[in-house]
Amino acid sequence: MGPGPITADPRVLRAMSAQLVGQYDPWMTGTMNEVMGLYREVFITENQQTMLVDGTSRAGIEAALVSLLAPGDRVLVPIFGRFGHLLAEICRRAGADVHTIETEWGQVFTEDAIEAALSDVQPKVLAVVHGDTSTTVAQPLEGLGELCERHGALLYVDATATLGGNEFRTDEWRIDVATAGLQKCLGGPSGSAPVTFSERAVAVIEARKSVEEGIRDEGDPVAAEPIRSNYLDMGQIFDYWSERRLNHHTEATTMLFGARECARILLEEGLAESWSRHQLHGRAMLAGASALGLPPFGALAYKMTNVVGVEIPDGVNGDAVRGAMLEDFGIEIGTSFGPLHGRIWRIGTMGYNARTDAVLTTLAALEAVLRRAGHPCSPGAGVDAAYEVYGAAA
Ligand SMILES: *Cc1c(COP(=O)(O)O)cnc(C)c1O
Repeated sequence: MGPGPITADPRVLRAMSAQLVGQYDPWMTGTMNEVMGLYREVFITENQQTMLVDGTSRAGIEAALVSLLAPGDRVLVPIFGRFGHLLAEICRRAGADVHTIETEWGQVFTEDAIEAALSDVQPKVLAVVHGDTSTTVAQPLEGLGELCERHGALLYVDATATLGGNEFRTDEWRIDVATAGLQKCLGGPSGSAPVTFSERAVAVIEARKSVEEGIRDEGDPVAAEPIRSNYLDMGQIFDYWSERRLNHHTEATTMLFGARECARILLEEGLAESWSRHQLHGRAMLAGASALGLPPFGALAYKMTNVVGVEIPDGVNGDAVRGAMLEDFGIEIGTSFGPLHGRIWRIGTMGYNARTDAVLTTLAALEAVLRRAGHPCSPGAGVDAAYEVYGAAA
């Protein structure tokens, strides 16, 4: 019940035990096309260039940023938690001219603050995290696409922690590039990064293709600023996933099967249904934790649906409580990073774990462990408060 990775859906694990097939086997390429279609539905986009990057979510982030940004290109990164710092760091390594704005952890930016920075910096790319699991709040994205268009910037979003469990609309919100992973709301393992690119973003990347098709490995220096990665060169990855099937890497077959099953499970449930399921169980967990005397952390109006942050009470050893949850009940909860390490716990209710039994069992266990740690809480208060949320929703 941590902030991810979470318990994988057993259907995903079964799908991943299927036999491998050759990378140009018609069944394999058919499955790649099917996965592109499924993730267009998940991202709610018409983008042709919607596919998987082989690697964890960070591979998707880096593939997007290193493919969009040439050395010296200006990028604006609003930072409101750990993953904003990660975006900035990746952009710096790509040689970009990185400008950041920061707000206190637990808060988000107003549209005005972002617009002011856009007009100041005039970046090629605005790179922003949607839900930053380190603080459990999500930056509202509606409106940012329009701002970016007005200022001639591309909008990149890290949707790793939110996709599938929080409202996310790529085309309607005019997001140019979004990247994700499987191990949060999609209920799979880490190791595959669904990504989507708008035509505007694709045009930027195609213009950077450095060498003629087919002789890329010869390292011919033609275009001014080739993409500074081979493995994460989105131009080559687009070609590999296109009907031309130009060889790049060998698609990670087992992850492809897993990613396909994650999307199928989500779409069978329905996106809106999954968003509200995450919201319901997140609310029940928050109500339960509050009833146990744990104050919620961060701006409640911007809370992610799928992870609850609560303050660790004074006099309670946070790591000892997490240890007892794991040792005595087999339940994992998280702390956080940087300024929030040891200050908050993060309890996830996402993907396969956004379930009534998982929420109630976690609250019952947490109460028992907290009382043994000397934190006063009335017996049954957490579970009762969660039941109340479920009762009201029934
Ligand atoms: C969890 C998370 C990641 C994780 O990246 P991995 O490479 O899969 O570990 C990235 N971004 C955000 C916002 C996250 O919450």
